[in-house]
Amino acid sequence: MFEKIWTSPVWSKVISAGIIGIIGFISAIIYSLITDMNPIDSFKYIWNFKTKIGYAFIALIFMFIIQLLLQKVFSKKEKKLNKTEQKAKHFCEQWYKINDDQTNVVYRFNTYISSYTKQPIIANLTAFCKNHNGQEFKMNWIGGCLDRSCANNNKISRESVVKDLIESQLVVEWEKINGKY
Ligand SMILES: [Zn+2]
Repeated sequence: MFEKIWTSPVWSKVISAGIIGIIGFISAIIYSLITDMNPIDSFKYIWNFKTKIGYAFIALIFMFIIQLLLQKVFSKKEKKLNKTEQKAKHFCEQWYKINDDQTNVVYRFNTYISSYTKQPIIANLTAFCKNHNGQEFKMNWIGGCLDRSCANNNKISRESVVKDLIESQLVVEWEKINGKY
């Protein structure tokens, strides 16, 4: 708990300010013991010290408080993902490519769970030809594989068709995970 507070950038500063305040208070008492001044006078003395550390200290505290408020308002806190979000994140990370063994083409894409339909959707769909000794050639949605000697030259499915097929497959996988299939 304390470690959590201490490692938090805001609270550690607040605690630091508190510690500085306590040190100031103790030094006022020590000063009153060394001199004949009573503690209140010595506190006032330190308060009105040349550098006006008293005011500086108050300014410092204000800065911390303002910083604290600003961070509360503006910080895009990395909120912890709940179980549904974790499941979605894992699913999207897992589904980034699908192989078509018949044509020896691999389709790569980004998967998202739509916030409206709660179903998987894909974006940035690209096709790669794998007829090239372990290398992948990026394909063109019009011309297919750009290598003229390749079987996939001028052969490629329509992008929208591939997208629909992949999304259909992902919907099934997603519903399996959610126990609806
Ligand atoms: Zn090829």
